[in-house]
Amino acid sequence: MSKYLAALDQGTTSSRAVIFTETGELISSFNKEFPQHYPKPGWVEHDPHDILDSQISALREAVSLSGVNPADIAAIGITNQRETTFLWNRNTGECVGNAIVWQCRRTSQMVDQLVADGCSDMIREKTGLVPDAYFSGTKLKWLLDYYNLQEKAENGELCFGTVDSFLCWHMLEGRPHVTDATNACRTMLFNLHTQDWDDDLLKLLGIPRTCLPKVVDSSGLIGMLDPAILGRAIPVTAIAGDQHASLFGQACLKKGDIKNTYGTGCFMLMNTGDKPVMSQNGLLTTMAWRIGGKPTYALEGSVFMGGATIQWLRDELKIIDHAAETETLATSIPGTGGVYLVPAFTGLGAPWWDMYSRGTLIGMTRGTGRAHIARAALEAIAYQSADLMDAMAADCGKRPEMLQVDGGASANSFLMQFQADITAIPVVRPRVLETTALGAALLAGLGAGVYTSLEETAKGWQKDLEFTPRMDEATRKMNLRGWHKAVERAKDWARD
Ligand code: ADP
Repeated sequence: MSKYLAALDQGTTSSRAVIFTETGELISSFNKEFPQHYPKPGWVEHDPHDILDSQISALREAVSLSGVNPADIAAIGITNQRETTFLWNRNTGECVGNAIVWQCRRTSQMVDQLVADGCSDMIREKTGLVPDAYFSGTKLKWLLDYYNLQEKAENGELCFGTVDSFLCWHMLEGRPHVTDATNACRTMLFNLHTQDWDDDLLKLLGIPRTCLPKVVDSSGLIGMLDPAILGRAIPVTAIAGDQHASLFGQACLKKGDIKNTYGTGCFMLMNTGDKPVMSQNGLLTTMAWRIGGKPTYALEGSVFMGGATIQWLRDELKIIDHAAETETLATSIPGTGGVYLVPAFTGLGAPWWDMYSRGTLIGMTRGTGRAHIARAALEAIAYQSADLMDAMAADCGKRPEMLQVDGGASANSFLMQFQADITAIPVVRPRVLETTALGAALLAGLGAGVYTSLEETAKGWQKDLEFTPRMDEATRKMNLRGWHKAVERAKDWARD
């Protein structure tokens, strides 16, 4: 009997592979970094060969470290950095140029034009997205224009895909040209309501349907791994974008369940059930996943400066050597003494959406020291996340009962306790913090029949610690008032 599940977690700076037991226990993981390319200011690219080679070697290494016989791997799931855009030749597999990474701003003007032409509402209604260069649609258009490939694309000679499509085409037998609904919904070409590529949007950007992948469920048989990779054809039975996989790995399976990932930025997703909720508060509407043809939707919001605020303390202010030191510093004092840091270094996102706000450190007195600033930085991560949660609750008309957390900075127990205090709901940290890989593995297990129901996958999730709110309501309100006052001071600063 096969008993293991493998996840390929293709990220922005590294490719990772993780081997789990069917009860969600992590057996081994291997991470392989690859170079980033910045050909011009604001441009970011990946060499497609690096992505493929690093992912294949991470898988081989993780399997070898685990000591598991590939014959005992029941299924493989793929999860990936979203929006990054590849275009390749359908016959040879050779890519047209490098992949354009989600962070790349080269199509900003194209998006400005769409907005000036009054297309924002249509894009929002159909895709759930706020038009931005971040999403794949304009990146694909750029590749077609720059390399003069419109005719070739129309003749079916080219394949477009995000990382998941690219990996499936190159790593699976029979080269399936597919993507799943969670990745498709980040292209700005996919209609959330019809669950298909949208002809109006394709026309708007001049993209021929012939180059687009088939949109499949997030869980279910996609194909067999090329036996040349592990010496055996293993079923590949799941695809999901990283944040969606993490929502699944956190067992946020019911409407109202919510998770926050504390990485460089923070990503909060809430399961909104079988209906898309169109946000009134500047959040994105997205897929949670699609299983058995049935879509589950989510609301998504992000904090630009999450763990990056801690990196700023370390690299620019140089008041810490390691991120983990902030916890000792923060707990060495009873409070920030009224100091607030609004890390609006690149503006503020949801729910404020003010690109003119700038970083603000306010409320200092003669006694303010590095511990206060470090604590204010951690609290700022929690305050920003609390604001996102309020926006989600307002859109859904209901506050969540608890918050599931993961990501590098969720290791900071002071931050997690403060998050519980300031949102007044319990914060729950799981045993396996690699929830993205775990989610892909669980989706794969479901797709391969290792689990017979959605609910059964939840046994792969196990609680480690629960942080219970301890702050009294008056203090909580006072702290939030101070934070929102500080946000007001940060707003609009950089406008001429
Ligand atoms: P990403 O996937 O975005 O690279 P990770 O999930 O690996 O991010 O988390 C790394 C981020 O978390 C960094 O920005 C780092 O500053 C922050 N971080 C890591 N450990 C801690 C900690 N103990 N306390 C606060 N922040 C931390």
